[in-house]
Amino acid sequence: MTTVAAILASKGRSVITISPQRSLHEAVDVLSTRGVGALVVTGVDGAVLGILSERDVVRVLGSDGVRALDNTVSRIMTSRVKTCTPYDTIDELMAMMTEGRFRHVPVIADGKLAGIVSIGDVVKWRLAEFETEHQAMREYIATA
Ligand code: AMP
Repeated sequence: MTTVAAILASKGRSVITISPQRSLHEAVDVLSTRGVGALVVTGVDGAVLGILSERDVVRVLGSDGVRALDNTVSRIMTSRVKTCTPYDTIDELMAMMTEGRFRHVPVIADGKLAGIVSIGDVVKWRLAEFETEHQAMREYIATA
């Protein structure tokens, strides 16, 4: 069973974070310049306080218009963040994302933020796995 640790070993452990006091305007700037779909909101001690995804930005822009950009990140973020550990399997992660209807899961190891896995990372990993299985099957058939 492939675990989250394998994905992190390939993509790295860096996570783009933002502080809760920042404005949504600044958050949009970070989302766009860093080319990511979500920011993990952390306190000064590095604790995970929430998550802010592009979907949150669209939702609040839709309801409040551009003045929503003056809000602090803490007012818009999702505070109840579902996290995983490096030991969780990719299947468990996929089930969590499907059930919770979100596409990003921060990874916590030894009580600290240790990475983030997106639905894109999971799909990429699964495709590579399918390709390997396919290749092995072909070789098996060719030599049988
Ligand atoms: P996403 O699909 O990741 O863009 O997020 C969809 C919604 O779920 C947004 O409101 C996010 O703030 C929220 N969200 C994203 N990731 C998580 C997570 N790991 N735990 C809880 N909520 C999340």
